[in-house]
Amino acid sequence: MKIPFGTLKRQYDMHKDEYENAVLESMRSGWYILGEKVSAFEEAFASYTGTNYSIGVGNGLDALIISIRALDIGIGDEVIVPANTFIASVMGVTINGATPIFVDCDKYSLIDVDKIEEKITAKTKAILPVHLYGQSCNMEKIMEIAKKNNLYVIEDCAQSHGATFKDEKTGTFGDISCFSFYPGKNLGCFGDGGAINTSDEKLYNRIKMLRNYGSEKKYHNKEVGYNSRLDEIQAAILLVKLRYLEELTIERENIAKKYLENINNENIKLPEISKNCRHVWHLFVIEVENRDKFQNYMQSKNIDTMIHYPIPPYLSEAYSYLNIKRGIYTNTEKLSERIVSLPIYNGMTNEEIFYVIESINNYK
Ligand SMILES: *Cc1c(COP(=O)(O)O)cnc(C)c1O
Repeated sequence: MKIPFGTLKRQYDMHKDEYENAVLESMRSGWYILGEKVSAFEEAFASYTGTNYSIGVGNGLDALIISIRALDIGIGDEVIVPANTFIASVMGVTINGATPIFVDCDKYSLIDVDKIEEKITAKTKAILPVHLYGQSCNMEKIMEIAKKNNLYVIEDCAQSHGATFKDEKTGTFGDISCFSFYPGKNLGCFGDGGAINTSDEKLYNRIKMLRNYGSEKKYHNKEVGYNSRLDEIQAAILLVKLRYLEELTIERENIAKKYLENINNENIKLPEISKNCRHVWHLFVIEVENRDKFQNYMQSKNIDTMIHYPIPPYLSEAYSYLNIKRGIYTNTEKLSERIVSLPIYNGMTNEEIFYVIESINNYK
């Protein structure tokens, strides 16, 4: 049996006619940018998430860039970010000229909330928690620290559509939340897409302007903005998929549950889940001592695995100018050498799930 790391074909096939009709309808309408579909999706996604507003943008990185800009965070300012994250979370900060201040991760692979306060300085403007792999950060603690220190909170929800902390959805805690609809995300479109959610009307109006050349009214540009808009066809697709997101999430939870209950090998460390969270399993990440050996073994069983992520952002070439040495964020570095992501995708059959489990259990 051959098990891919992921495949989007199967979830496409589940609701094929609806996707195809939605795209056709959009194409035939003759209106392709900032039309009815984008507005309808923004309304539906804000309501799904539980914020007053949602603004569709070009992708998840743009959502971060525009959000940080909308909060007037830039040169000379500091933003607290997790050391363990996908590099886009950090780029959103540095593209605005601000400085990322890293905080090591905890046993959930998320920003360690007990190490945030020691990083706060007079320059700190915001905390940027990332709900990595589909599990929410401890938002209760983060909001408490932010309030006490008068900081903004920008949630990176690119991997956490539908995830909750104490029954509240990620994306509703902070001032602004950033989503990606990259095809492989839990709510993915068929190209690039993203959204910014907020309940603050002023921020909403500014972000709507910023995504469209800084203009509210055509050719009346109030500030230097961006061209970053979710397009009508992607919005039409997302409107269909959003209706099935709960179903798709439950399916991912069921796969994760089978992994958690049946993988039993002393060489494998399973992911830790906080009881305060609904984990939506964007990724199922295990730890193993000899990763190369394990990945080669899995490949010999025809099972694809991946690593999220092999190089912490602050050690990547792009951020060599920050001059951050190895050995400071030791939990993150240890993870980056041990983690492996297992296949988890909508449409994965029981036979496939148990083939992965059995293969792992036979690994020595
Ligand atoms: C995917 C991702 C992004 C960026 O989203 P794009 O749409 O690919 O630009 C940002 N942050 C995290 C945590 C992500 O996983």
